[in-house]
Amino acid sequence: MFGSPESDAGSGEDEEASVAASQSFEVVVVGAGLGGLCAALSLRQRGLRVTVVEAAAQLGEIGAGIQTAPNASRILIGLGLRAELERVRTEPQDQVRRRWADGSIIGQLPLGQRVIDQYGAPYWHYHRADLHGVLLEACLDPTGPGPVVEIATSAQVVDLDRADPARPAVLTADGRRFAGDLVIGADGIRSAVRDLAGFDDTLEFSGEMAYRALIPGDLVAADPATRFLVDRFHSTIWYGPDKHLVHYMIRGGQYLNVVAIVPCTEEIARDWSGPATAAQLAAEYEDWDSRVPAVLAKAKDEDVSVWAMYRRRRDPVWVDGRVALLGDACHAMLPYQAQGASQAMEDAAVLAEELGWVTRDGIEAALVRYVDRRAKHAGMVQDASLQNMSFYHLPDGPEQRERDEKLRRFDGESDVSYDWLWNGSPLTDPDTESINYQFAR
Ligand SMILES: Cc1cc2nc3c(=O)[nH]c(=O)nc-3n(C[C@H](O)[C@H](O)[C@H](O)COP(=O)(O)OP(=O)(O)OC[C@H]3O[C@@H](n4cnc5c(N)ncnc54)[C@H](O)[C@@H]3O)c2cc1C
Repeated sequence: MFGSPESDAGSGEDEEASVAASQSFEVVVVGAGLGGLCAALSLRQRGLRVTVVEAAAQLGEIGAGIQTAPNASRILIGLGLRAELERVRTEPQDQVRRRWADGSIIGQLPLGQRVIDQYGAPYWHYHRADLHGVLLEACLDPTGPGPVVEIATSAQVVDLDRADPARPAVLTADGRRFAGDLVIGADGIRSAVRDLAGFDDTLEFSGEMAYRALIPGDLVAADPATRFLVDRFHSTIWYGPDKHLVHYMIRGGQYLNVVAIVPCTEEIARDWSGPATAAQLAAEYEDWDSRVPAVLAKAKDEDVSVWAMYRRRRDPVWVDGRVALLGDACHAMLPYQAQGASQAMEDAAVLAEELGWVTRDGIEAALVRYVDRRAKHAGMVQDASLQNMSFYHLPDGPEQRERDEKLRRFDGESDVSYDWLWNGSPLTDPDTESINYQFAR
């Protein structure tokens, strides 16, 4: 347990009523992933008391990279995290698109300062653990604005008690009970809160799997064939039949982060994830431009894993009374726009705006407004990410040539444009931190 341990188990009704009258209302957030922590911090900064209930014994993120486009970076900077993030982020200068067979460049989009000038916020890459660590520290910082977030670990939610609809509670496998004025299920793609609240089962398997790997930057730099990846930080997408590959440097070049999408094996579809080796990963791309298997083979086996790609169908129902969902729990999407966590951050910002100014009586309506403002937007990103699955993996031929022409012009890979995506969900509160960002560099 981080912060001061507390659940309302055993507290009497009188005591609860007097606490309720004298304090801001209390939010129970299930899940301490990037979505849950971003929500906890956003709500804390609005003066709300937040308890995060997390199944894992240790808080953290998997050993992999993550990108935040301006729609998410803007929110993180708006939470006052700019200095901390600048210490851990890597800023790509371009997005480069390459053809599988010979590595020829299909298109190149400037990022870096151009994105800041155009969208008022940066495009950044991080090690997931670093981004998670920044959010966690801010949640627990005793000098930060609002009440310190309390976090219970080893607390797997197994039941939801809504006997008193105004005081929903989650129950954990080890018998603890956490009640609040509302419960937010930020517990990921296989959300228990979602199931316990009776929302539809919207889970779908994509038929694909993603290798994730971290490749030591010094090995990439030492090989003349792959040195070009270190000379200028950029993000690369390679397009090929049935497969694609994304890579970018994190921690200032310490690692090349790789996401490699290929057709899924039966074993991984069944187990959801598993270990893998660099040789296995490189073999998936053996007939591609020789630089691809050359760089993939440099991964250390302990830094290679493979994950079945599941998603959720678009679903406008994220709320029931005082229980609502956030992040992958309600809009898990294929990672083909690198937007899953970023959309969860948009959820967090809008949720905090809606809850930030209401009294207890207004919680239900605030949650409905939160969903109204977010579900259609996130649903469009879900659909667009799904569209990219076939668009990215076309066999060579007329359709592929037409696609490459579109990619060259950057006139959209799917039905949503970068302009729409990177401007993000409109926020109502003036966000001076990020507005000032472009002028304070
Ligand atoms: C290969 C790949 C690359 C990606 N790249 C990007 C990217 O570059 N940018 C981007 O924005 N997104 C990216 N995403 C998507 C992103 O990783 C997810 O959308 C995001 O991590 C979801 O965050 P979340 O907090 O909603 O859920 P999660 O990160 O899954 O967190 C859920 C938390 O809830 C906890 N939990 C689960 N069940 C319970 C329970 N019963 N009780 C208590 N706690 C529970 C879990 O332990 C976990 O800590 C990528 C995804 C993949 C697969």
